[in-house]
Amino acid sequence: MRKKIVAANWKMNLTLIEGAELVNDLFKGMPQLNENNLVVIAPPYTHLTQTSAQLAGMADVHLGAQNCHSETAGAYTGEISAAMLKSAEVEYVIVGHSERREYFKEDDATVAKKVNQALVNGMKVIFCCGEPLEVRDAGTQNAYVESQVRAGLFHLGDRQMNDITIAYEPIWAIGTGRTATSQQAQDMHAHIRQVLAANYGAEVANDTAILYGGSCKPSNAAELFACPDVDGGLIGGAALKASEFLGIITAMAAAVEA
Ligand code: PEP
Repeated sequence: MRKKIVAANWKMNLTLIEGAELVNDLFKGMPQLNENNLVVIAPPYTHLTQTSAQLAGMADVHLGAQNCHSETAGAYTGEISAAMLKSAEVEYVIVGHSERREYFKEDDATVAKKVNQALVNGMKVIFCCGEPLEVRDAGTQNAYVESQVRAGLFHLGDRQMNDITIAYEPIWAIGTGRTATSQQAQDMHAHIRQVLAANYGAEVANDTAILYGGSCKPSNAAELFACPDVDGGLIGGAALKASEFLGIITAMAAAVEA
């Protein structure tokens, strides 16, 4: 059975001290989670060792990274390999975030190579997909997202899909305050699951968690997470404040119990 997951993407925010304080506050306020709930925190690279040490006492909270390089090692000044992340106790790698696709010109082929690097090095992947506003306005979002999923994941075998979580993040909803309606989220998540089922079969499709991302906050998390195909969220801005992130985690825990 797939788990409900709430993952924090801190992006390029917070100093070491601020990051430590945030994790401390999360630790103090963390609600009781059951075995079907899972929290991931993906801080900047500079925080990984510190955050890893802090998370040692939190069984349900796992360490993530926001990116990895597509090559194994070598002359790539300023970059970080998947093996380095693994050696820093990272368990989840966010791959294919729309900000990386846009600002760092990551194409589908590069994203697929990053997926491979994370898996080969024994980590799990949070694979991001999502359409820009003009695609949504044209009504072609299903085909757009399906093509990202196919290009980024469909070279994987069934067993490798165990280590994949998908995050549907409509670009027009990221950091804009404009959330997809729960119906828009549910429709796309159901479509992604159907695409997975057509390629891998019902078991893989049912076992793959599909998270929603895009201006998710405590006030809309419960409604989004109540959708049958929305298995949690990838959270940006609201993950930077303990009270907000805890509110979203609480919504996840309640959704599982419902
Ligand atoms: C994100 O960038 O992954 C994201 C969901 O950001 P926000 O929650 O700030 O929209």
